[in-house]
Amino acid sequence: MPELAEVEFFRRRWDVGVGQKVVDVALHADKRIFRGNDLATFQRVLPGAKLVGSEARGKQMLFRFSHDVWLGVHLGMTGELRHEPQEFSPGKHDHLVLRQSRQSLVFSDPRLFGRVLFHHGPHAPEWWSRLPPALTSDEFTLDRMMAFLKRRSRSPLKGVLLQQEFFIGIGNWMADEILWRAKIHPRRAAGCLDGAEAREVWKAIRFVCAGALRIVSKDYSDPPPSWLFRHRWEKGGRCPKDGTELGRETIGGRTTAWCPQCQPE
Ligand SMILES: [Zn+2]
Repeated sequence: MPELAEVEFFRRRWDVGVGQKVVDVALHADKRIFRGNDLATFQRVLPGAKLVGSEARGKQMLFRFSHDVWLGVHLGMTGELRHEPQEFSPGKHDHLVLRQSRQSLVFSDPRLFGRVLFHHGPHAPEWWSRLPPALTSDEFTLDRMMAFLKRRSRSPLKGVLLQQEFFIGIGNWMADEILWRAKIHPRRAAGCLDGAEAREVWKAIRFVCAGALRIVSKDYSDPPPSWLFRHRWEKGGRCPKDGTELGRETIGGRTTAWCPQCQPE
């Protein structure tokens, strides 16, 4: 499942088409990634519209075109965006191809868990304006975070950090990285953090999100060895701060790694 930074990485791949008109649209209309769309209108209004810009919010992307056309993309498990030469022939997993004069913008998704949401109107679609604020934005405040944790007070923090209705874009490795940096055990109940601990979690969220966006979304490279990320997958992986062997367990429904020394239970 792509996380914040991977989504940003794919979003930027369509930047090459910004400022250019779509001249033709090819799509596999019967695929479930298009469910709920008025495809006839989509295919009528998109040709001639110019790609103006795009934004990612967590795992969602929104591409803005002229002529009041908007295209939302969710990558699901296996979705990818890329660009190809103008004259390329789509493969069987290339479900949406926007041809422009200089290249084709492609959405492919072998397992079809992704979603394409077309919108025609002067304002961004309602589902987009309902998304929570980005975790790197000024609207993501410590107070708002503490209020959310209070409403999930008995759930383990690991699981709560994965709840997309507030922690938009945080995926499994990021949640582990955040708790390791904040020195909080992943099984701690969300409601039992004191003010100082909550502040550490909030700071770690900002740090990990900003770092992931800076490092991973640039060219899909891994964070540096000082991050837990580089050790959590290894067999017998050790904490990069103190060399303690990492603990591993399923917490909040997901494989979790932590340092028993830095994050005592
Ligand atoms: Zn440690």
